[in-house]
Amino acid sequence: MSAPTIGSIERRMAEFRRIGEPAFLARYARGRAPRHFYVADDTGDLYPMKALWAASHRPRIMPARFKPKDAIWGFDALGYEIAKLSAGAVAEAAAALDAQAEEGQRYRAEVTRIRRNAKIVAEAKAHYGPTCQACGFDFEQFYGERGRDYIECHHVDPLSGQDGKGDVTTIEELAMLCSNCHRMVHRTNPCLTIEELREVIEQAS
Ligand SMILES: [Zn+2]
Repeated sequence: MSAPTIGSIERRMAEFRRIGEPAFLARYARGRAPRHFYVADDTGDLYPMKALWAASHRPRIMPARFKPKDAIWGFDALGYEIAKLSAGAVAEAAAALDAQAEEGQRYRAEVTRIRRNAKIVAEAKAHYGPTCQACGFDFEQFYGERGRDYIECHHVDPLSGQDGKGDVTTIEELAMLCSNCHRMVHRTNPCLTIEELREVIEQAS
């Protein structure tokens, strides 16, 4: 019988990831649940310590053949990290993994939303042209080549009153504003409508 090596442990870790914990425990620990000792790999994934130690022997042995501390010393000698988790901590670790998956889904949804918005913003710019809809400022006319095609996109959202936070679904939800006018509509919350800002400009001049 030969003792576990990094190679034999990694093969069993791969097997664990492939078949899952219940099947792994059924195969190498007669289905007995781990007693809160886990081994961590480089990525922080956890494996039931005694079952993994037993499975990594060649040929494999049963976990009843050795004490937890034998496995702890063995894994430690090979540079593995041992985690002792309470039953509550095991549940927490599982929940944290689920939360990570949710985080990933949120991230993907966010990227999709930004891409979709960027497409509609580009369409709106092409549709309305690069002139401020409140004051008529034209960046190219004023700054020459440097100002060409520059205009800011304002998200007209009467429901949330928040610029750029929600989904843009049609170009009607967008208005083209110069930088000054854009700041001015947002100086209050909820922000002014384009029509209201036009009146403000008219009254002031
Ligand atoms: Zn303007």
